[in-house]
Amino acid sequence: MCYTVERKCAEDFDRADELQKYRRQFYFPETNGKPYLYFCGNSLGLQPQKTEEYVQCEIKKWQQAAVEGHFTGERPWMDYHEFLTTNMANLVGGKPIEVVAMNSLTTNLHLLMVSFYRPTPQKNKILIEKSAFPSDRYAVESQIRFHGYDPKECLIEISPPQGEYEISDEAFAECIAREGKNIALILLGGVNYYTGQLFPMEKITKWGHEQNCVVGFDLAHAIGNIPLELHKWQVDFAVWCTYKYLNGGPGGVGGSFVHERYAEDSSLPRFCGWWGHEKSTRFAMPDNFEVMSGAEGWQLSNAPVLSMAALIPSLEIFAEVGMDKLRTKSLKLTSYFEFLLQEKLSNEVEVITPKDTNKRGAQLSLHLKKGGKEIHKALLENGVICDWREPNSIRVAPVPLYNNFLDVWLFVETLETLLKDKKA
Ligand SMILES: *Cc1c(COP(=O)(O)O)cnc(C)c1O
Repeated sequence: MCYTVERKCAEDFDRADELQKYRRQFYFPETNGKPYLYFCGNSLGLQPQKTEEYVQCEIKKWQQAAVEGHFTGERPWMDYHEFLTTNMANLVGGKPIEVVAMNSLTTNLHLLMVSFYRPTPQKNKILIEKSAFPSDRYAVESQIRFHGYDPKECLIEISPPQGEYEISDEAFAECIAREGKNIALILLGGVNYYTGQLFPMEKITKWGHEQNCVVGFDLAHAIGNIPLELHKWQVDFAVWCTYKYLNGGPGGVGGSFVHERYAEDSSLPRFCGWWGHEKSTRFAMPDNFEVMSGAEGWQLSNAPVLSMAALIPSLEIFAEVGMDKLRTKSLKLTSYFEFLLQEKLSNEVEVITPKDTNKRGAQLSLHLKKGGKEIHKALLENGVICDWREPNSIRVAPVPLYNNFLDVWLFVETLETLLKDKKA
């Protein structure tokens, strides 16, 4: 790919971009009547213009049909979660029986650990990444304690070498080979939220299984960002949220994957609720719990329809575009971003996300040599939304669905100006 630092280069790329029209299907927040440059799709995805209509449709149905809405209309509430299954399964490379929309991410993580973290005195450890998202760490530590073990002994954290940010494939392989016999569960992010590193999920799953470890992934930053093949990779389970790259709206419904090999396994311990009960006899209100096949068997409650309605239009956009095209554009967009930073700001800005495009998604995490937090604040005041993560990272995610090359060019220009002003 041939990049130049001229604005014209960005404009030419945008003209040639076949996904350009999707940008117009989203609302951008505004400041003083002008849209912000929005780079926070890794934190809260933008609202598709169709979302309101889908949510309104259910609001209206509630007004006009009330309880009958469970059985009427285009999408009866009784089966509402099923309308999300196929599109979501395609995004993670799962079969429909392996995927369900339910609850929220951390809740799902707990529910699946109840089934898939089964420590014994010999094999009771959990492997996570050192800078795991705090909620994942809290969940994992509390599960360890719940089973009567001590996180100080049972939590293994794999970290990059001192002063570096990337965990190599060799380091994963070596750690799993060394500790595997004591590891009950490997639980990693698909893409690390802080550094933006994409972990080698297929290999980790293989190495973990060779040591009889269960392997699960938190796909909060991976779904809608990276093409995934969970079924093929033999991943045991995964969880995700839908308000980041999937644009499902604040606090939107989460999702779970459980590999098909567990679909009929009623011997797995689990926490149960009526929505995980066999659908055909659920409303006979039997005393005995009879689990549904597949991921749906982990459901507790009836579907949060309004939050699911907000997700459907975005899933439809993903289904129409496809992850392959999104990934192709994403690779180009993020590489262009990296190129501009390298050309114009290499003295002031360090990119801590891996350079190898196979080891990252859309996001680049930037460490500013000086004044990171101030610059982040100044960016916002100058019409740019990106996010700040303690201790030292500005995360910037050019999202291929609605960001374009000019956004990236303008971001780098704004950052350059702010850094110059600061020096002057
Ligand atoms: C965003 C994110 C979460 C958020 O969890 P919720 O239960 O949806 O609040 C958890 N883990 C990771 C890795 C995340 O990136």
